[in-house]
Amino acid sequence: MELAGYIISCKAAGKKTGFVPTMGALHPGHQSLLESSMLSTDLTVCSIFINPTQFNDPADFRRYPLTIEQDVYLLEQSGVDILFLPEVNEIYPNGTGQLPQYDLGNLEDILEGKYRPGHFQGVCQVMHRLLDVVQPNHLYMGQKDYQQCLVVKRLIQMIESNVVLHTCPTVRESDGLAMSSRNMRLTEQDRKKALAIHDVLKNIKENIRPGSLGKLITDGRMKLEQNDLVPDYLEIAHASSLQPVTNWDGNAPLIALAAAYIHEVRLIDNMRLND
Ligand code: AMP
Repeated sequence: MELAGYIISCKAAGKKTGFVPTMGALHPGHQSLLESSMLSTDLTVCSIFINPTQFNDPADFRRYPLTIEQDVYLLEQSGVDILFLPEVNEIYPNGTGQLPQYDLGNLEDILEGKYRPGHFQGVCQVMHRLLDVVQPNHLYMGQKDYQQCLVVKRLIQMIESNVVLHTCPTVRESDGLAMSSRNMRLTEQDRKKALAIHDVLKNIKENIRPGSLGKLITDGRMKLEQNDLVPDYLEIAHASSLQPVTNWDGNAPLIALAAAYIHEVRLIDNMRLND
């Protein structure tokens, strides 16, 4: 692949490479990852690839927004060095039937993994390939997909890559809604209701106390449902293992995570509750 050759020559010249993998429909959340990379590395590579193997729902894959001209414009304006825009057969030259499977332990069965079976295998399949091709020194991903960051961290260990993963803060709209490529599919009315996800997470953060966390979760779910959101999950979990915490000792690092549908659009968000 031409790109791999070019990157190898840059690395030979002592340049540090930063990599921001995306599925396009770029927004300021993606831009913040690109900026972090451009600030700290010599060569920033952005990939746009809507990875078919990570979509457990074929309708979600078909409906995924495609705004390539706008994306190219944004990348040109932001000064990114390389856009990697592969075709499916470049990423999966032998097809998608016999791809490797990764041992993700319990991470695969909880939260996103539970509601999107096979999703994280697809994430690992594409990230493994992309890391092999791009060979970056630094990898920039968003906290918005917190569980994905933990999965990729595990992948990096499994494949014994030296890449350094940076988990960057979630960029939000001024009212708190986490920016997402999927937001462009929301009607104005649904966009307002979707804000309940952020409100619920914020409320949990403001009101969490040691002891039972059951009521915070029940109240949160109720608020989501009152806003016509259909939650897959709303959970408080240990921030490093993502194991659910129902009774807090006041010390363990916690994160609240939510996934909910508003009509056919599925949104996710999370918030660290203590540091
Ligand atoms: P995607 O194009 O949705 O696959 O996202 C590509 C990368 O951008 C992932 O690492 C995401 O976690 C990250 N990302 C998506 N939304 C945001 C956001 N609102 N703030 C920061 N990073 C984000």
